[in-house]
Amino acid sequence: MSARVLIVDDVPANVRLLQALLEREYFEVHTAMNGAEALDAVQRVKPDIVLLDVMMPDMSGFEVCRRIKSNPLTRYLPVIMITALDQPEDRIEGFNAGADDYLVKPIDELALLTRLRTLVRFKFLLDELENSIGEELLLDTRLDVDSDVPARVGALLNASKGNGPLMDWLRAHHRTRDYADPVHLLEDVRAGRLDAVLLDMPLPGHDSLRICSQIRSLEKGRQLPVMLLVEQARREELLQAMEVCASDYLVQPVPLEEFRARLNIQLRRWRYIQRLRESVRQSVTFAMVDPLTGLYNRRYLTTHGRALVEEAAQRGRPLSVLVMDLDYFKKVNDTWGHDAGDEVLRELAERLRKQVRRLDVICRVGGEEFVVLLPGADARVAHQVAERLRRAICREPFLISAGGGKRPLEVTISIGLSSYERAEDTLETLLKRADEALYAAKQQGRNCVVRQRAA
Ligand code: GH3
Ligand code: MG
Ligand code: MG
Repeated sequence: MSARVLIVDDVPANVRLLQALLEREYFEVHTAMNGAEALDAVQRVKPDIVLLDVMMPDMSGFEVCRRIKSNPLTRYLPVIMITALDQPEDRIEGFNAGADDYLVKPIDELALLTRLRTLVRFKFLLDELENSIGEELLLDTRLDVDSDVPARVGALLNASKGNGPLMDWLRAHHRTRDYADPVHLLEDVRAGRLDAVLLDMPLPGHDSLRICSQIRSLEKGRQLPVMLLVEQARREELLQAMEVCASDYLVQPVPLEEFRARLNIQLRRWRYIQRLRESVRQSVTFAMVDPLTGLYNRRYLTTHGRALVEEAAQRGRPLSVLVMDLDYFKKVNDTWGHDAGDEVLRELAERLRKQVRRLDVICRVGGEEFVVLLPGADARVAHQVAERLRRAICREPFLISAGGGKRPLEVTISIGLSSYERAEDTLETLLKRADEALYAAKQQGRNCVVRQRAA
């Protein structure tokens, strides 16, 4: 795993030690000797993860961490605090500063590498999602603050054991659901009904790690926070757990403060991934859909249309194209205003949508110009469809807003039609013929359908 790691420590010997360890594992290592250098390196080097010493002159590691996490551009950059301070309060302060993990010196190398890899995997996933989102939308997604809405937490715990205060707190602050049977837990994970899972380890009658890896095998469980509450720290087992599947583990008895802090970290990451996924979905939609009408745009027409023409050429499947344009639309805008014009465009899109099959593709390609692709339709069928569309528009007046009320308005469209006829046909030739046909329809008095054959 070749990730960029920034090591921050004011003691050169500590830096060298960590550097040697990480370079042996093929990480790309950068170093900083104090807080100011660290903040500078974060901007310059763009590390995938920061290993941060707490006790440094000038600026403490806690402060460095707070600054990294309060900048929207670096808020989700993973930070592991590495320190000689091992009082629970220190750990809490680290987590409150936004640290993703907290390790105590002398460093357990294997534990460090395991946690490092888990966090780097998370960072790589973020990079991948962030790269598929436009810049503006990404900034919005990052700035969107973490919500405090209660999370849906599923707990599969050893019934005979007292998790009293912890569970009391959980029930008071989150929507907690207890499970006795892993099957039900897995069902809820599969259905996307949970935001985090707590698992006791060991669990009488069950294998906690198996359950954990079953969660990971579900699509909705892949990134889901899964926290292990372990009875005693059996090092090998825990490292295996982190390697296999767990998001985090806590050794019993778990201080409530630490549990809260660690759960929050997990939920913050989980929610950010959810928001990123939603933004990716949105940007994919933005790229193909016209915002006014919700119809496909010209870009989509081009890519999808070319594929359909290829299919027509290779498989002999019929294909027809309609190009349509509103009649005297300028007059609507001039008389009733641009907003009324927009209302007409939206209503028109709605009526068109109701008249075509799911396979058919309607695109808004210009202000008041639309293209419909009809795969599988020869000229005769396409003519019927075009007539149906024309009638759906002129049959009943549109209702537009005017003078504080609604007003009926007669709307008509003209339609040009062309069909795939010969091997030389491309999307461009089909559109050109349909355009010529549309022109002829306008000449013939509008509100009609005209077909143009290949010469
Ligand atoms: P024809 O029957 O020959 O098509 O006449 P027309 O008035 O529809 O054609 P013309 O090309 O002269 O005018 C098209 C008008 O469409 C120009 C503009 O006012 C209007 N238009 C284009 N895009 C939009 C839009 O997004 N919203 C609104 N409200 N009007 C638009
Ligand atoms: Mg120090
Ligand atoms: Mg027009």
